Amino acid sequence: MKNASADKKSILSKARRVVIKVGSAVLTSSGGGLDQKRIEQLAKEIVSIMDGRREVVLVSSGAIAAGLAKLGLKKTKGMPLPLKQAAAAVGQSGLMWMYEKTFGAHGKKVAQVLLTREDLSNRSRFLNARNTLHTLLEYDVIPIINENDTVAVDEIKFGDNDNLSGMVVQLTDADLLIILSDIDGLYTADPRLHPDARFIPVVEKITAEMERGAGDALSGVGTGGMRSKIMTAKKVGAYGVPMVILNGKKTGLLAALFGGSESGTLFLPRLEKMDSRKHWIAYTAASKGGIVVDDGGRDALVHKGKSLLPGGVVSVEGTFKVGDCVNCLDLRGSVFARGLTKYSSGELELIKGLKTSQIEPVLGHKDYDEVIHRDDLVIL
Ligand code: GLU
Repeated sequence: MKNASADKKSILSKARRVVIKVGSAVLTSSGGGLDQKRIEQLAKEIVSIMDGRREVVLVSSGAIAAGLAKLGLKKTKGMPLPLKQAAAAVGQSGLMWMYEKTFGAHGKKVAQVLLTREDLSNRSRFLNARNTLHTLLEYDVIPIINENDTVAVDEIKFGDNDNLSGMVVQLTDADLLIILSDIDGLYTADPRLHPDARFIPVVEKITAEMERGAGDALSGVGTGGMRSKIMTAKKVGAYGVPMVILNGKKTGLLAALFGGSESGTLFLPRLEKMDSRKHWIAYTAASKGGIVVDDGGRDALVHKGKSLLPGGVVSVEGTFKVGDCVNCLDLRGSVFARGLTKYSSGELELIKGLKTSQIEPVLGHKDYDEVIHRDDLVIL
């Protein structure tokens, strides 16, 4: 890790558009409810790092936690989903009101943006959200994003706001993601359970061991955990964007980070940046089904940079339409690629295993030779 500190300095000094995710545990006080002092401090630090040359997009949790306190409830564990959603609806307005006030005191404007996974899985809604966010930034507004908990149930949920913040990086073309949590960063083991755990200041590559070692949700108010943070680092890293985990409960760390402090864990990105559309296919579009591909077809896709042809298709899973995002599975059932299909599941059932010259006689039409064109395919 010889250049770790130089890497950190240069990444932070170059960052012009930063997504900052604040977890519920950071924003709430131990007695429940929003911690106004902490929010004021955060706003002050965020404004100081903007410094007239950086834009910030905030992804803020805390709606459910704030709503729980108002409704006289404590933890979300075991609580029915509609009650959590109701708590979020109660809490979200208070959360925004507090941001409006605290950023307003520094002469900054804020905007509320609520999103669901389904919104971003749909390419045109994704682009609408992207246009709105870019316009807000042009007008010097700090977008404050949360999941739209009223309509988000399990199938369309982001899972937690760590995941959402990764998607926001892509939506806004940000060049850095900072996750403010109630922990200092990544350790070799959970420091709350293992006092001998060592702190990791820079992660060059996310290993399977790191993923296994990271625990699930630790605090009672948020739904993320170290694992979801590592998965988010992996996603944005594939997009060429670094991520920092920092303790948001400690005063001054965010401002100090840009001043060259050694705090937090930096995840370095993969060197090559994935193009925005391919990243959307790989990580944002919801998969509508699967195509099982034979070994020859898999080899052509993975090693030869070819498109998927009907001849390589062995079987079809699920029901999908033309243009849907589908997984490509090998004969052992592992997903090795994702892409946008040019044929529906019904059409594929008829043309699987056939030569391209047989598509038209069988279907009565042939719009494309390929089932998934190379440009619409991402190898995972
Ligand atoms: N949307 C949830 C809230 O604002 C947060 C989800 C999470 O980060 O766990 O409370």
